[in-house]
Amino acid sequence: MKNINVEEIFGSNVFNDHVMQERLPKKVYQKLKETIKEGNDLDLETADVVAHEMKEWAIEHGCTHYTHWFQPLTGLTAEKHDSFISAPLPDGRVLMSFSGKELIKSEPDASSFPSGGLRATFEARGYTAWDPTSPAFIKENAVGPILCIPTAFCSYTGEALDQKTPLLRSMEAINKEALRLIRLFGNTTSKKVVPSVGIEQEYFIIDRKNFLARKDLVYTGRTVIGAMPPKGQEMDDHYFGSIRERIGAFMHDVNECLWKLGVPAKTQHNEAAPGQHELAPIFEEANVAVDHNQLIMETLKKVAYRHGLQCLLHEKPFEGVNGSGKHNNWSLNTDDGINLLDPGKTPHQNLQFLLILTCVLKAVDRHGALLRESASNVGNDRRFGGLEAPPSIISVYVGEQLQDVLDQLIATGSATHSRKGEKLETGVSSIPEFRKDATDRNRTSPFAFTGNKFEFRSVGSEDSAGEPNVVINTIVAEAFAEASDILEKAPDFDMAVHDLIKKQALESRRIVFNGNGYSDEWVEEAKRRGLPNIATMVDAIPALTEKSSVEVFERFGVFTESELRSRAEIEYETYAKKLNIEARAMVDIIRKQIIPSVIKYLSVLAENINEIRQALPTADTSTSEGMLAEASALLKETKAALNTLEEARLTEEKMSDSKERAVFCRDRIVPAIDAVRVPVDKLEMLVDKEYWPMPSYGDMLFEV
Ligand code: ADP
Ligand code: MG
Repeated sequence: MKNINVEEIFGSNVFNDHVMQERLPKKVYQKLKETIKEGNDLDLETADVVAHEMKEWAIEHGCTHYTHWFQPLTGLTAEKHDSFISAPLPDGRVLMSFSGKELIKSEPDASSFPSGGLRATFEARGYTAWDPTSPAFIKENAVGPILCIPTAFCSYTGEALDQKTPLLRSMEAINKEALRLIRLFGNTTSKKVVPSVGIEQEYFIIDRKNFLARKDLVYTGRTVIGAMPPKGQEMDDHYFGSIRERIGAFMHDVNECLWKLGVPAKTQHNEAAPGQHELAPIFEEANVAVDHNQLIMETLKKVAYRHGLQCLLHEKPFEGVNGSGKHNNWSLNTDDGINLLDPGKTPHQNLQFLLILTCVLKAVDRHGALLRESASNVGNDRRFGGLEAPPSIISVYVGEQLQDVLDQLIATGSATHSRKGEKLETGVSSIPEFRKDATDRNRTSPFAFTGNKFEFRSVGSEDSAGEPNVVINTIVAEAFAEASDILEKAPDFDMAVHDLIKKQALESRRIVFNGNGYSDEWVEEAKRRGLPNIATMVDAIPALTEKSSVEVFERFGVFTESELRSRAEIEYETYAKKLNIEARAMVDIIRKQIIPSVIKYLSVLAENINEIRQALPTADTSTSEGMLAEASALLKETKAALNTLEEARLTEEKMSDSKERAVFCRDRIVPAIDAVRVPVDKLEMLVDKEYWPMPSYGDMLFEV
């Protein structure tokens, strides 16, 4: 394995600040920095110079093309490559050019991207607009190195058609409201507050030849059938286990690719399920972190392919073992290095922190359904509520130390002490002593305070992290604004802060839960508390257009009502389409692969029985006959279940309203798909492996 000089390669494919300082004239650099830092407009003259240098730099790195890189509402990224060549000169040569105009704006035909009825197909115009706050980078693909310019994607009338636009809008909102709040506490030095985000990414790796032999994985990203192997994750021997050689070589290359792209890949380990792993980068500004998460997902897939492997990002590729998520760690940081979510050693004295904490509680309490919606997708429906992912009830874990402070506040109106972490007793004298954290962790909470940040653990592994961050930023901005509204008018600031912290702590008490989120008792308890338990994506979507959601998004200019309606429409459409594909994949696989194979096996079995009888009339053939009868019965059951599924699918295809389709899919298609699986998985355990037409769970999970 080749050595990597990390310091040398890190960011070598990024047009980062270092490169800009080196290459851009001082004045141009200053202007660009102002745009990045303060959001000032960039004039075309400056953009021309930046574009020229970007192009020169890209060409030095072997680029022939550039692209506006954007994130439409498909969950994926999109790109359309343009070469740098200009119209040929009269003498037949070409020049390489790239103008400020081309850097700032491009006009992809938007008609084939989801718009949720925001625009008719004949209104094809859409614009991508340069986001200078996320640095341009070079992607190295088989097609050659490509200069990628991160962009926002909007319709002709300025409506957001992507993940980035609302994220940038929400970052502006929280910046404004957080600054307003900390000014009241006497902070006069910070100029900007930015949400920082660190996204842990879980994924599965299987052998590519096994992947290609599983049409369900190819078409839907998950296995729609498959019997459990003799061994799953019950031994807990995969989690943090030593990394197998083939996976190690893959991870080594992933890191190299990511570091070149300036993605600060930091942590890697095996996850709970066999074949499952995790990668976490160091946190960055929300916008960059979300872009980088897209690059991480893309890189995992690309490098896996190069290693003859396949990376699965689906939330639940295999039944019976854990699925994958994405943990979105979120905090608020000032430009001069203060983490507003850092409680310090004595949280009870840190009124600014306590106010911010209770604002977050209030925000999550009020908009829990919206937060739940931001983490919903078809795959997550199969993961939530199991003993592996957060429940579908949103709650917040604050930990023992903060709970104690909040309890004091609620009881007496002020808190007088904070619990301290005690010395860790290992019973071994040679182990150096250290103090424990004041609070344990809770892996079962969807929204957990983890020391100096919140970890939103419900996000789907495949999903963009854009939406969850849009929601968190906006709902917290609202709580901040409401707090400032009160405090700015208060005659006695200190008293007003105390009162407000107490009030917010008291009013949002029901959202705080520090116990086991996986337990049945919690489901009951949450019901008593009146917390919504939203089981499926279809049930979650209405939160987008609820009055309180429209109000908060419109107030902070993050979404208009029509943008929200369009997003809801896209989600219903996506849900129905994905399930329709699953249904068709199921029908295809069962008809073309499973049924013919089972019939082949049964006829061989029947022939054998006949041959044995002829050769040895007294022989006992009851075992074989029993198998024959059992398999025939299961085959019949399979066919019946398949017919039900096909009928349901045909009914669904005749429906035109997206919501109606989605509801029908939830109620009829999902159960029908699951019903087909039951006899098929039993057949898999009965039929000779030689006749089973695809790799088993055991082959896929352990054969790497
Ligand atoms: P865990 O034990 O949950 O894996 P880590 O400390 O390893 O916690 O952090 C997980 C992720 O959280 C990493 O991406 C890390 O960079 C990020 N993170 C750490 N501190 C912050 C913070 N203040 N704000 C946002 N993300 C953070
Ligand atoms: Mg974590």
